[in-house]
Amino acid sequence: MKLINCADVLVMGAGPAALCITSELVQQGLDVQAIASKSPLEPWPNTYGIWASELESLNMQELLKYRWKDTVSFFGDGLSDKGNICTNHYLDYGLFNLINFQEALLERCNGLSWQVETVEKINFREKETIVICASGKKYSARLVIDASGHKTPFIRRPEHDEIAKQAAYGVVGKFSSAPVNKNRFVLMDFRPDHLNANQLKEPPSFLYAMDLGDGSYFVEETSLACAPPVSFESLKARLNSRLACKGIQIEEIIHEEHCLFPMNLPLPYRDQPLLAFGGSASMVHPASGYMVGSLLRRAPSLAKEIAKVIKEDPLIPTSQIARRGWQTLWTTELVQRHRLYQFGLQRLMSFDESLLRSFFDTFFKLPRKDWYGYLTNTLPLPRLFLVMLKLFSIAPSKVRLGMLGLIIKKKD
Ligand SMILES: Cc1cc2nc3c(=O)[nH]c(=O)nc-3n(C[C@H](O)[C@H](O)[C@H](O)COP(=O)(O)OP(=O)(O)OC[C@H]3O[C@@H](n4cnc5c(N)ncnc54)[C@H](O)[C@@H]3O)c2cc1C
Repeated sequence: MKLINCADVLVMGAGPAALCITSELVQQGLDVQAIASKSPLEPWPNTYGIWASELESLNMQELLKYRWKDTVSFFGDGLSDKGNICTNHYLDYGLFNLINFQEALLERCNGLSWQVETVEKINFREKETIVICASGKKYSARLVIDASGHKTPFIRRPEHDEIAKQAAYGVVGKFSSAPVNKNRFVLMDFRPDHLNANQLKEPPSFLYAMDLGDGSYFVEETSLACAPPVSFESLKARLNSRLACKGIQIEEIIHEEHCLFPMNLPLPYRDQPLLAFGGSASMVHPASGYMVGSLLRRAPSLAKEIAKVIKEDPLIPTSQIARRGWQTLWTTELVQRHRLYQFGLQRLMSFDESLLRSFFDTFFKLPRKDWYGYLTNTLPLPRLFLVMLKLFSIAPSKVRLGMLGLIIKKKD
C-alpha cells in the first residue's frame, strides 16, 4: 500500500479538541494532516456551556449565542430541605454558538481539509507514525495527536476500577409554564422536593436549566459523577417528576440531549509515542465535567512547543517529540492539581443527597475568585490547596467529616 506523504503532525478527530489543537498547529506554520470519522463541517451534537469570563480572558466572548447575568443555584439551605433559598453566583454564564465556534476554529486552520476516515490501527517507527484507516489507506506523520475523544483505544493509561461518569438527560423545548425564571440560568437546582424517601437514597442528581428566550427552555437532569452511571431512563423519570411536582408539562421537544462521559479517567502514560488532546488526554475537569475553556487555554502552548521541537531538529525521533508534548500538556503542576481534583471528586461521590447539597452550599460561599478558579482550573497549585483548606474550615462539621472520608454512605 502506498504511503501518502509524511506530515509534521497528524490530528485524529474533528470535535472541539481536534479543532482547537489543529488550528494552533496550522498557525505555527506546521504541515498538518487531519483525519476524522465525521467531517468537521458536521454540527457538533452537544451543547457547550462556559463561564463568560473564561472566554473574555481569551477575547472570544463573541462566540456565545446566549449569555445570562442572572445565574443561580438552589441547594435548599444546606442540610435541611427548605426550598427556595437561592445562591446567586454573580457571574455571567453562556452557551456557545456552535456554528460560529466551529467556523472560527476552522478559519484558523487556513483551509486545511480533513480526510473523512476512521483510524483503525497505529504503527510507530523511530521517525514517523503510520495511521491505518478502515478504508485501508495509510497516512504518516512525525507526530500523531489523538483527539478522538475519551473512548479512544489507542491511548494507554493505568489500569483502573470502574470509571465514574457524568450522565445527563436534557430537553430543549416548550413547556406549559416556565421551568425557570425569565432570563435566568440555573447551574444546579438540588432541591429534592419531588423525591420520595426511596429516591432520596439513590445517587443524587440536579437540574441544570436555562431560559433560551422565544418561549423555549433547556432543562437537564444531571448526575455529577457516579459509577456505574445513573441511567438515562432514571434521569428522564426524575426530570419528569421534578417538572410534574411544579405542575409543568413538556409541550414540545425541540431537541433531546443524552450526555455521558468519564469524570475520573486516569491520566495517560506520558512516555507513549502517541500524544493526546481533549477527552482522550483526560482533560475533562474532574470536579465540574467542563473542558472547552481548558482546550482553548492549553492548545496554543502545546502547539508552540511541538513546532519548536520539530523545527529545531528535523531528525528528532517521534517518541521525543511526543514526550515534549506530554510534558507541556501535563506539567507537574497540572498533574498535581488534577490529583487534588480527583481526590475531591472521590470524596463527593461518597456523599448522600443532603450532604452534597450542604457541600455545594458551602462551596459557593467561598469568594467568587476562589470557586471560579477551582471550577475552571485556573488557580496555581498553592492557591488551590489553600482554597480547599478554606473550604474545609468554613464547612459544617458533617461536611468536614465527609471531606475527611469519615462518613460511610448507607447503601440500601
Ligand atoms: C452531551 C455533552 C455535553 C457536554 N457539555 C459540556 C459543556 O457544556 N462544557 C464543557 O466544557 N464540556 C462539556 N462536555 C464535556 C466535553 O467538553 C465533551 O465531551 C467534548 O465533546 C469532548 O471533546 P473531544 O474533542 O475530546 O471529543 P469528541 O467531541 O467526542 O470528538 C471526538 C472526535 O473524534 C472522531 N473520532 C472518534 N474515533 C475516531 C477514529 N477512530 N478515527 C477518526 N476519528 C475518530 C469523532 O468523529 C469526533 O470528531 C460535554 C460532553 C457531553 C457528552
